[in-house]
This record gives sequence, C-alpha cells and structure tokens, in this order.
Amino acid sequence: MGSTTTSSKIATRSRAVLRDVEPGSTVDCIECGERVKFQAKIRHKQVICNVYEDGRWMRVEHYHSGCYDTAGSPHGPVDTTPVVKARRSAPARDNAGTGPAATARSA
Ligand SMILES: [Zn+2]
Repeated sequence: MGSTTTSSKIATRSRAVLRDVEPGSTVDCIECGERVKFQAKIRHKQVICNVYEDGRWMRVEHYHSGCYDTAGSPHGPVDTTPVVKARRSAPARDNAGTGPAATARSA
C-alpha cells in the first residue's frame, strides 16, 4: 500500500511499555474490557501500547499487565525499563528514590 520507501530509517512502529496504574485511571483493558483500576495497596501494572499503522500513530491501547500476555503480546515485547523522569536542575528532594516505587522489582 502506498509509497515504497527505500530509505531505511528506523520504522515507527507499535510498542508496549509497562507502567504503574495511575490514580484516577479511567481506561479500560482492551483484552478483557475491565477498568484498569488504581489500587493503592496493590501497585498494579498496566501495559500501555502506542499503536502505529503504516508508520503513523493511531491510538493508545491499555492492558492489564497479565492481559497483555493473554492477548499474545500483540504489539511486541513489553519494555519494562523504568521511566526516567526528565532531570530537573533542582535535586532538592532527598527522599527521591526511597519511595515504594524504588523497590519495584523487575520480574
Ligand atoms: Zn484486562
């Protein structure tokens, strides 16, 4: 379909990342249709997929982390690299890195 590009720049394609479920999350899991709920005691993970078609961004899909596996990882392997927050020039918070998030293990 469309133009055949010979220039082989890195294709923009779908990718999946693992993220904490945010408080107030109002997204539904694509796989099971259930709300991806935030619960403070259980730090749920969700898989967020940026879906590209023909090199163009189409939509974002959310999955429960388990449901993404159930779905057969439709957008490729999940990138579980923790988010590196953009460095601010003020490292004032000395408790950064000691919160519960810092103890997240890579299963
Ligand atoms: Zn689900």
